[in-house]
Amino acid sequence: MADFRGLDFLRLDELLTDEEIAARDTVREFVSREFLPLVQEYVRQDGAFPMQLIPRLGELGLFGANLEGYGCAGMGAVAYGLLMQELERGDSGLRSCCSVQGSLVMYPIHAYGSEEQRSRWLPKMASGEVIGCFGLTEPDFGSHVSGMRTKAVRKGDAWVLNGTKRWITNGSVAQVAVIWANTEEGVRGFLVETDCPGFEARDIKGKMSLRASVTSELFLHDVEVSEADRLPEAKGLKGPLSCLTQARYGIAWGAIGAAMACYEEVVGYTKERLVDGGPLAGKQLTQEKLAFMLTEITKAQLLALRVGRIKEANQLDHAMVSLIKRNNVDMALQVARQARDLLGANGIVDDYCAMRHMMNLETVRTYEGTHDIHTLILGERITGMRAL
Ligand SMILES: Cc1cc2nc3c(=O)[nH]c(=O)nc-3n(C[C@H](O)[C@H](O)[C@H](O)COP(=O)(O)OP(=O)(O)OC[C@H]3O[C@@H](n4cnc5c(N)ncnc54)[C@H](O)[C@@H]3O)c2cc1C
Repeated sequence: MADFRGLDFLRLDELLTDEEIAARDTVREFVSREFLPLVQEYVRQDGAFPMQLIPRLGELGLFGANLEGYGCAGMGAVAYGLLMQELERGDSGLRSCCSVQGSLVMYPIHAYGSEEQRSRWLPKMASGEVIGCFGLTEPDFGSHVSGMRTKAVRKGDAWVLNGTKRWITNGSVAQVAVIWANTEEGVRGFLVETDCPGFEARDIKGKMSLRASVTSELFLHDVEVSEADRLPEAKGLKGPLSCLTQARYGIAWGAIGAAMACYEEVVGYTKERLVDGGPLAGKQLTQEKLAFMLTEITKAQLLALRVGRIKEANQLDHAMVSLIKRNNVDMALQVARQARDLLGANGIVDDYCAMRHMMNLETVRTYEGTHDIHTLILGERITGMRAL
């Protein structure tokens, strides 16, 4: 497999540290040599992830890479973003696996858990020995999770959970689930071991997008957990929403990777493909599309890098993350669609990556706050008015 060169038109590498470049290049190599040779086989299955790579992802420090202590790599926000970029250059399913584990399960345990919960779960999650999932969305509530129906009721020293969570990444392969539920005191988060009585995970089949990823529905029927399994510092919807801000930040970087993969593929293809007496790359219409891709990817890189540096200075505003998630995913989807188009009929088979990324990006546009929801967050920030 040819080495991936990346795209650095504005010499942004000059704004990165040696450590950041080294971390990125390590994951770049892993994706080229160990992940991409497998992806076609897994995409052809219906919702399966190459689980044999989990220990390797742990070894590379890709689970909770930006968290401190407990066996985590403690990387800065930009280095972390570059890792997400490289993972999604492979496939959105690969990046999703690491995002869910790190930003949606390890992060809330790190930020809102007790010391006992942190010591118990985080080292095993960092190494990949334990896989986690994040149960927020329900069949009837996705964008507006305040309507959630899952309930947790106190029973002496224990809690009893009932409800259904849907569209849960890694649901059936996880050993622990972070379940968000309504209680008399408001929304609270619980660490639920997935082998406990009353817990069932069923995979969702027939996905046309994120095929190399496990997506499940979780059923909780009188699931009993102890008070020690509640995240003590997570109070209200702020808990899950702060996790989403972390994951959305990584997605904004990841989308750049998907776009770069499509760009590199289509530049190579159009130089080789002969149409109407010459290479497709030599046609004006093609060059307009390639110029669009180069420009948009470069703009997205700058946005992500700037927000990353702001995050490292602890000055992140969640609306900034909305701006980059919304823009960069939309950009990547446009790039993937145009690349697919330039590949002609070849673009519809999975020997080429463009259509796989394009289909994946439809999910990425929907999850972690849909494109529209981020539009509304920005609209409210601009006007001070919550749109109805
Ligand atoms: C493959 C995959 C993996 C996922 N993984 C997870 C996971 O691990 N954990 C988890 O908890 N969830 C997960 N999700 C769920 C995801 O976060 C939700 O699908 C997402 O939040 C959107 O919710 P919804 O599907 O119910 O769509 P809806 O909320 O029903 O939205 C449908 C449409 O309505 C629009 N809309 C919504 N509200 C408004 C409004 N006020 N004004 C105008 N338009 C509006 C939306 O933008 C969208 O276009 C995953 C989803 C997918 C597809």
